[in-house]
Amino acid sequence: MYLLLCGLGASSLVAWLGYQKASLSKSGFWGAVLVGTLIMGFGGALWFILLMVFFISGSALSHFQKEQKGEVAANFAKTGKRDFGQALANGGLGSLLAVLSHIIIPLEVAFGLFLGVMATVNADTWATEIGVLSKSNPRSLLSWDEVPPGTSGGVSLLGTGAAAMGALLVGLVAQVGLFLSGETTQLIGRPLVAALLGGVAGCFCDSILGATCQVMFQCPLCGAETENREHCGQKTLYYRGFKWLDNDIVNLLASAAGGTVAVLVYCR
Ligand SMILES: [Zn+2]
Repeated sequence: MYLLLCGLGASSLVAWLGYQKASLSKSGFWGAVLVGTLIMGFGGALWFILLMVFFISGSALSHFQKEQKGEVAANFAKTGKRDFGQALANGGLGSLLAVLSHIIIPLEVAFGLFLGVMATVNADTWATEIGVLSKSNPRSLLSWDEVPPGTSGGVSLLGTGAAAMGALLVGLVAQVGLFLSGETTQLIGRPLVAALLGGVAGCFCDSILGATCQVMFQCPLCGAETENREHCGQKTLYYRGFKWLDNDIVNLLASAAGGTVAVLVYCR
């Protein structure tokens, strides 16, 4: 009960700052409060800190060199203000794992999965926010053709490196947290490796789904291919992919894949 109240207080404060900084929409604020409260309340301090690593680094990177990102960010749903759906796509699985770690899933397994989930969402955010700044065009994972910056399923060297750094940061914080709480004596060990491999694997899974079956729309006015349902103030038209497989669901599936890889490394 005490942890739940702490979680409510801490996540309200952070979400309010995110809302003030325009990193969160109004619905995104409530999504972040819900996710933060559950993760702190049921997971504890280290779980919450890992969520904060994602939230704070992601928000900071989305403000980084914003002018250069302008046009690309408008075409793709991932950057900029996060709404309720995105908060749940990024933190929903983590919250569920925190709750389940008290009921069905052994704590060690739940934490291994959580590490991979947080590493994936962080890797994916870093890859998007930094990869967009790549001087050379990304290439499609499927055809290896050049595609416009920000395209789902497009990969660049800069974006891939950023993904690895994003995953590594989650792993480092987890490793140091477990070290400080006396649960490990190593500063380089399984938590770090699990997050790195899980995050990179999850991020690739996100790109593959984005290149193949994620729903994409086209703007009737300017013709841009986008994952948004609106563009130029107009409703966009269906272009390709499964209609139910939007960016939020792709994030969720990629997180699950990253979690699976991480837990296999974390719990031998
Ligand atoms: Zn348009």
